[in-house]
Amino acid sequence: MPLSNRVNNINISPTSKVFTKTKEMITQGFDVINLSVGEPDFPTPANIKEAAKRALDNNFTRYTLNNGIVELRTAIADKLRKQNGLDYSPDNIIVSTGAKQSLYNAIQSMVNDNDEVIIPGPYYVSYPDMVTLANGRCIFLPTDEKSQFNITKEQLEKAITPNTKILILSYPTNPTGASYARKELEAIAEVVEKHNLYVICDDIYENFIYDNNEFVPFASVNKSIKERTVVVNGFSKSYSMTGWRIGYAAGPAEIIKSMNKVQSHSTSNASSISQAAAVEALIGQQNSIFEMRDEFERRRNFIYEQICSNAGITCFKPKGAFYLFPNIKYYLGKSAAGINKIENSIDLSMYLLNEAKVATVPGSAFGAEGYLRISFASSMYSLKEGAVRIKEALGRLG
Ligand code: PLP
Repeated sequence: MPLSNRVNNINISPTSKVFTKTKEMITQGFDVINLSVGEPDFPTPANIKEAAKRALDNNFTRYTLNNGIVELRTAIADKLRKQNGLDYSPDNIIVSTGAKQSLYNAIQSMVNDNDEVIIPGPYYVSYPDMVTLANGRCIFLPTDEKSQFNITKEQLEKAITPNTKILILSYPTNPTGASYARKELEAIAEVVEKHNLYVICDDIYENFIYDNNEFVPFASVNKSIKERTVVVNGFSKSYSMTGWRIGYAAGPAEIIKSMNKVQSHSTSNASSISQAAAVEALIGQQNSIFEMRDEFERRRNFIYEQICSNAGITCFKPKGAFYLFPNIKYYLGKSAAGINKIENSIDLSMYLLNEAKVATVPGSAFGAEGYLRISFASSMYSLKEGAVRIKEALGRLG
């Protein structure tokens, strides 16, 4: 059967490939240290689970409003006002099946054929394929350690053409842990306004920011930026709820209405049980967020020191999220006894998986060759054991 051109133009998420191979090895009984995961290793807090149980017992099991229950959209509006200084009416908010669905719906609603969408790299794996599915054109803005993995105002200005429509921002960033200070965001905002661009800002890691750094939402930079920004966020990371599939977007009425249309013809409402649980996540105790953040910061400090102690490795110290993104270019072109030459980050990731039984994600999955992503959303035991195994395996490459 000839498949649609739309589908032929995109790829299965490259991180799922590593995930599948890792799962296969675990099923085969290998003792794999999994540092490839993109989710907190903590259970969902008890108060949230209790709220879901109550929802089930009360038979809160039917279709809800397509854009989400009023209680949840009101709780989200309160959160955005109190935590982020952003004023949205519940009507300007849509609840979706994960932040991913909000991103997808926003891109489907905003991108026309050949519209250019600027994506700073390294990027979250799904952005380019979502843009391609909408027949948009991805314009990548590469960054590296020298710019602390941040784009600059000048770099953005240079990439803009008459076809540029949207900038996708996300910080703290998956996979680098980079983040922006208010001044840097203001500089980007100037260019955005000057060229009449729209912004999709994915704030999903907002609560995991370290060293007392401040998270500044892009939409909060000024009023006119808020009017051209779609804020995407969710419960997966902050409340350790990846499997519950619940996220949301807030933005200009016209865009949110269109996203509601797209959603009404795909999944309809997000799970009623997850919505009830998400209300409790927002109105209940928030300690679990701070506990997770403190633990991630402790783990970041540990794994950063360990990975930097390997010969030839340089690494940006993540300001947030839960990933380390070391530069491994020193190891390209090297090999070990019985091992083919390591040509790229996929080879190195596969070498570590096969030889050290440590799962990582190759940088090329995020559009950045010569790097690996190491998740520190893994137990301290896994990080300690993983660091020892990585050092031993890298030491064999020459
Ligand atoms: N955005 C970023 C930057 C992510 O890293 C992820 C998950 O890894 C998502 C969105 C997806 O989040 P959700 O589970 O809410 O769909």
